[in-house]
Amino acid sequence: MPLSANNPERKSWLPVSENSDFPIQNIPFGVFLTRDNEITIGTRIGETAIDLGALQRLGYFEGIPLTDDMFMQDTLNDFISDGKKTWRLVRNRIAEIFDEKNPKLQNHQQHRDIILFDLKEVEMQMPVLVGDYTDFYSSKEHASNVGKIFRDPKNALFPNWLRMPVGYHGRSSTIIPSGISINRPQGQILPNGADLPVFGRSRQVDFELEMAFVTTDANALGEPIPVDEAEDYIFGLVIFNDWSARDIQRWEYQPLGPFLGKNFASSISPWIVTLDALAPFKAHSVKQDPEPLPYLRQTAGKHTFDIHLEVDLQPSGKQPQTISKTNFKNLYWTMAQQLAHHTSNGCKINSGDMLASGTISGNTPDSFGSLLELSRGGKKPIQMADGTTRKFIEDYDTVIMRGYAQNDKIRVGFGELTTQLLPIFKSKK
Ligand code: MN
Repeated sequence: MPLSANNPERKSWLPVSENSDFPIQNIPFGVFLTRDNEITIGTRIGETAIDLGALQRLGYFEGIPLTDDMFMQDTLNDFISDGKKTWRLVRNRIAEIFDEKNPKLQNHQQHRDIILFDLKEVEMQMPVLVGDYTDFYSSKEHASNVGKIFRDPKNALFPNWLRMPVGYHGRSSTIIPSGISINRPQGQILPNGADLPVFGRSRQVDFELEMAFVTTDANALGEPIPVDEAEDYIFGLVIFNDWSARDIQRWEYQPLGPFLGKNFASSISPWIVTLDALAPFKAHSVKQDPEPLPYLRQTAGKHTFDIHLEVDLQPSGKQPQTISKTNFKNLYWTMAQQLAHHTSNGCKINSGDMLASGTISGNTPDSFGSLLELSRGGKKPIQMADGTTRKFIEDYDTVIMRGYAQNDKIRVGFGELTTQLLPIFKSKK
């Protein structure tokens, strides 16, 4: 089916500023509360939120096979379950409805009043009910940097790392959308030089700049997904901040891996940008040496996306400061390889599952995706414009992540993922 929604020449009758992440070629999917406190599935063009439930009720999706309440739900799981053909039909239709040459809704003020909202009037929610969440560890630079800081510089990468996309099962209950503040976690920590652990506030709260992909129902229990088919089961991507408490992580992680140092919170950008919308930005992935085993070998072609990523740190009451710039295409393992590996043993993947990339670091010091790396494990604090320094995140700091893909015709992006760190939780009793 043609991706007519991707036509770079198309213009919308809705206003879109020049550097917007959300031109009519994006058409991401999300869930929001309207000003009347109704929850709905929606999309956005520029700074306008579009109620897809209302569009459907008013007949604008006629001819597309959708259940009657497809968009009047509080998650995208059922829509994602419908599969790629339906996603394409819906994105193509939305592009037609908002095309400047189409007068139908454009000239229907009564319908516009029901369907359109100023983005400032809506409150973004979790776009999917995340059944299962997996975090990979697929940046060679990040895995090497962390191996050097936590273990032995000479053996920074474990021998399995170059052979498979290493990952672990995380926790879905604490995945939250942009705008929700989190509390500094407490936990068991072994202070430097001490023989015995203590329980207390983490002093090494960190972000991890990642992206995550959202899957559709992909397979039956026991059925592996071939690597060259895997992208068909990926709905889209979000920016993902895998909050990490390094002092808790360092003490707890062996032998079974990350646990309480990770699962207190993970934040996502609220709009899922489809793989279809990102198609113009396909890019070659990192050359893999040694060659992977046959089940992870992809036919020649472009298997990743050129997506610029940035992290800002904003001290309380001060200006945000960009502290890292990197790119999604720096990852060593591709999403298709991650999904093929994940299901190679027959593990079942469901609609709404979230699979995160692992921290995305580049190969220069200003492109590292965590403070652990940027501050060399706390040895080289980074200088802030307000005169303070940071080894890790301070109370009331805000972390802002951004991502966008751009060519000479269009820009498709994710908007901002903004989260403030509050002090440790205090009971109101
Ligand atoms: Mn991570």
